[in-house]
Amino acid sequence: MPKSRELAQANLETLYRIFTVPVAPESTLGEIDKAITDDLTGFLQQHIVAVERDLDEIEGDFSQSRIPEEPTYVSDYTDFLKEKLVSQSVHTASPGFIGHMTSALPYFMLPLSRILTALNQNLVKVETSRAFTPMERQVLAMIHRLIYAQSDEFYREWIQNNRYALGAFCSGGTIANVTALWAARNRLCGPSGDFKGIAREGLVKALRHLDCQGLAVLVSRRGHYSLGKAADVLGIGRDNLIAVDTDGNNRIDLVRLREQCARLKGEGIRPLAIIGIGGTTETGNVDPLEALADLAGELGCHFHVDAAWGGPTLFSDRYRGLLRGIERADSVTIDAHKQLYVPMGAGMVLFKDPATLSSIEHHAAYIIRRGSRDLGSRTLEGSRPGMAMLVHAGLSIIGRKGYELLINQGIERARRFARLIDAHSEFELVSEPELNILTYRYLPSWAQQVLAEAVPERRAQINEILDKVIETMQKRQREAGKTFVSRTRLAPGRYGGDTITVFRVVLANPLTTDDILSAVLEEECEIASQPDIQAMLEQIKG
Ligand SMILES: *Cc1c(COP(=O)(O)O)cnc(C)c1O
Repeated sequence: MPKSRELAQANLETLYRIFTVPVAPESTLGEIDKAITDDLTGFLQQHIVAVERDLDEIEGDFSQSRIPEEPTYVSDYTDFLKEKLVSQSVHTASPGFIGHMTSALPYFMLPLSRILTALNQNLVKVETSRAFTPMERQVLAMIHRLIYAQSDEFYREWIQNNRYALGAFCSGGTIANVTALWAARNRLCGPSGDFKGIAREGLVKALRHLDCQGLAVLVSRRGHYSLGKAADVLGIGRDNLIAVDTDGNNRIDLVRLREQCARLKGEGIRPLAIIGIGGTTETGNVDPLEALADLAGELGCHFHVDAAWGGPTLFSDRYRGLLRGIERADSVTIDAHKQLYVPMGAGMVLFKDPATLSSIEHHAAYIIRRGSRDLGSRTLEGSRPGMAMLVHAGLSIIGRKGYELLINQGIERARRFARLIDAHSEFELVSEPELNILTYRYLPSWAQQVLAEAVPERRAQINEILDKVIETMQKRQREAGKTFVSRTRLAPGRYGGDTITVFRVVLANPLTTDDILSAVLEEECEIASQPDIQAMLEQIKG
């Protein structure tokens, strides 16, 4: 491999070169570059090794803590990369990889990402982003309109009004949720009278000012763990993130919610926000958003909808009704790196009222000056890439109707898969898909019968055996590397409160066919027929 153009030793002349020379087409890097441009699918298939190496072994490749003293050839580095990193990566774009929310990307995202890196704009301030700033504001307005459907006049007024913001762009759903609760907290504890606001005087004085013992955030047990982080960093406390029980369909139980609100009131704790989930991460269920909006109105607290996953359902005329009530939310989280098919690192939080984000405004002398157009004055993050460009591209190229088709397809495929599982004698559907996520477990019909007739104590024992079976099967399926489903634990009503381990499937990759879904079940049956798993199942016969 010719190495002539590459850095060979640390002298200024070679260092200047790495900032100026193009990629040599005949180098390893040039070859990888060309391969992913010409045939990404082929590249991934060829270079990601299907069979997993032991993680301990992989860690061995990354155990050196000393920074290399001398420069090295780029080609030596890319050889290492190919061998040790690419080969042991996860083929998230594979149509048989249906266990997580990360899936295939449209082909244009890759070259566009390169343009993004080439431009290297910093969205914290206009001085390093120029056109990217109004472009990002436009993207936020488009998503705001998808949710809140305000008038043309409304958007004309706010879209580029730099004193306000329709939302904030960020790295993902976690930061979006933190931002929503941050704004809600600062609004509730805003300046009034002598009190200069929580942003300046801190939580202790804010609570004294509000004359309460603490703040609470209420969400169902299926709430995303990012909310726990938010409660922690915002000083609300994880114990004050109240996990409300769900009904048989993984939706927040409204009676229990009201009970919790009454309890908090008795303890002098003020509800800061009620959160509805627009597509739970584990099961894809949607909370009764209308009822939650009513209750938040009654209590006078912030209503946030975490639609990180399910938000794009709004593109679909057929299914947008599933999110009815979302337009009454004070804030909504939507992840673009999930169902907008943008690469990782793109999330948004939208606010119904363009003045809400003013409560977290920060200024500095050299950038994000008062009255400037700098987006950084209303974001948690500082320096930030122009990922909004990729959302802009998706919305422009795929369009509302394109996304609608993708959404419809995913939901309908999930429904067909559910029927396939129902009809199969060796599986039990655990959660019916409302959006495009479902859960199920291995449960041959004879075992189903034993389970149905068992007394509660025996039932719990059997479920424990099955948990072991499901866990072992899921690991083997993952290790074999042909297909992948994830696993989680749920408490479906039908087993008297027993928590059980289930397979979880997320159907967002448009290339996942019904045949692939059949093959997933087939592979699972094969795994279940392995002697040690059969031996576990024998214990159910007792
Ligand atoms: C994925 C997800 C999040 C977190 O998003 P990240 O992008 O992983 O930070 C939050 N809430 C829900 C409902 C999600 O599905």
